Amino acid sequence: MNKIEHIGIAVKSLKDASTVYERLLGLSSYKKEEVISEMVITEFFQIGESKIELLEASSSDSSINKFIEKRGEGIHHIAFAVDDIVKEMARLKSEGFLLLSDSPKNGADNKLVCFVHPKSSNGVLIELCQEIK
Ligand code: ZN
Repeated sequence: MNKIEHIGIAVKSLKDASTVYERLLGLSSYKKEEVISEMVITEFFQIGESKIELLEASSSDSSINKFIEKRGEGIHHIAFAVDDIVKEMARLKSEGFLLLSDSPKNGADNKLVCFVHPKSSNGVLIELCQEIK
């Protein structure tokens, strides 16, 4: 794994939260994007090399909705950039980690993504992401 690519934060209202983060960071988001397959709307902020992803549920069935019901708003996942997501998924599987999908999916911000179940990683949902070239 190369670096932390972004930190995902589950929010009730993207509109309210993006105003807060604009004021906090002193800059505007660079992208807002719906990920239909994950039932989320995302908004990204770039701070130097780092990114913050705000996530709002686009449906009551969204995992973001379930997360907020259970734990409230807050840090939802940590995403690591990888060069070869398929290879990294195989490595983690062989290390006994529980992956949430068998193959990479199309995620937000032009990435192939895969998630690692928080049960495997001390309560933290981990995302692997590889830039689509
Ligand atoms: Zn993410």
